[in-house]
Amino acid sequence: MTSKALNHLFTLLNHYINYTNLRSLIILSIIFVLRSLEHKLDLVPMSSNVEKKGLIVSFGEMLIDFVPTESGVSLAQSPGFLKAPGGAPANVAIAVTRLGGRAAFVGKLGDDEFGHMLAGILRENGVEDKGINFDKGARTALAFVTLRSDGDREFMFYRNPSADMLLRPDELNLELIRSAKVFHYGSISLITEPCRSAHLKAMEVAKEAGALLSYDPNLREPLWSSPEEARTQIMSIWDKAEIIKVSDVEIEFLTQNKTIDDESAMSLWHPNLKLLLVTLGEKGCRYYTKGFHGSVEAFDVSAVDTTGAGDSFIGAFLSQIVDDQTVLEEEERLRKVLRFANACGAITTTKKGAIPALPSECEALSLLKDK
Ligand code: ADP
Repeated sequence: MTSKALNHLFTLLNHYINYTNLRSLIILSIIFVLRSLEHKLDLVPMSSNVEKKGLIVSFGEMLIDFVPTESGVSLAQSPGFLKAPGGAPANVAIAVTRLGGRAAFVGKLGDDEFGHMLAGILRENGVEDKGINFDKGARTALAFVTLRSDGDREFMFYRNPSADMLLRPDELNLELIRSAKVFHYGSISLITEPCRSAHLKAMEVAKEAGALLSYDPNLREPLWSSPEEARTQIMSIWDKAEIIKVSDVEIEFLTQNKTIDDESAMSLWHPNLKLLLVTLGEKGCRYYTKGFHGSVEAFDVSAVDTTGAGDSFIGAFLSQIVDDQTVLEEEERLRKVLRFANACGAITTTKKGAIPALPSECEALSLLKDK
């Protein structure tokens, strides 16, 4: 009886050893293929040594988007809504960690169930949470968003005021901000006080500590009191940023010129700028530096929802340059990184929602390999 049991145990152990060997072999082969791909594509290996990566601190709002359960209807006609975490700066932070980089989010959420849910989503995705504050008095921001059948987006915001608007300069985790290699932000945090002052202070502290400042204005016109106010405030911090990413729609809005070409893009150039990126949806992106400019084609994918494509693009871009900013001065290397960012933007359009659609490094590399 004892020897039968021993025999059985031995067979089980044997199977287990064979199985673990096989598993290790498969994992090693995957790592080997990924490493060779990274080498071939000349990309910075991300997934290893995460703790050694430079920190990207993303500052601003995180909120909940409520999207209709039925597409092509107005907000009033929608029979129900699904909640989806949103807010461009939070998406950017997760875009970075999903690709194997290090990111922290700085902002304020309501001390309510939604606020803690959002903080949990950041943590689950490996985003550092030491810069998150909770407001006892105000709620987490909500946005009801629909794409109507006529193609127009309809927004309805619940920010009267919401917690993100109430972040104060004295609540900032300055130690965290000072440890940033890249400090990234948008313009929604400029709309009202005290958040506007907190934004300006965080930018200043990051800059003094040597961080590269990255700005994606992410225009949300309905949140501003007037288009003129939006233009003035967005431009008020323009000349601080060293990397700016805008979309074609934002160029048109900021320059008040319907023609989107090199001339209109370059009218937004300023002397401190190292790189101006213009994203063009399914047409890819354009880049402008002091020394050269050009465009990089998009990937051909079946897009189902473009929410978050721009955040994925800039997150991917920053994750690739955070530890080696000389990329900004070498056109061939910059183009490779922009191809990677285009791939990440494209993948994000293939699934519904922003955060669930942000790609892993493996997904991005496999799209690059296939095309
Ligand atoms: P934003 O969300 O800021 O408006 P875009 O929609 O221009 O930014 O998207 C950012 C990037 O994502 C583009 O430059 C492109 O590389 C990629 N992308 C966006 N939409 C598509 C699409 N339909 N097909 C392929 N790539 C896309």
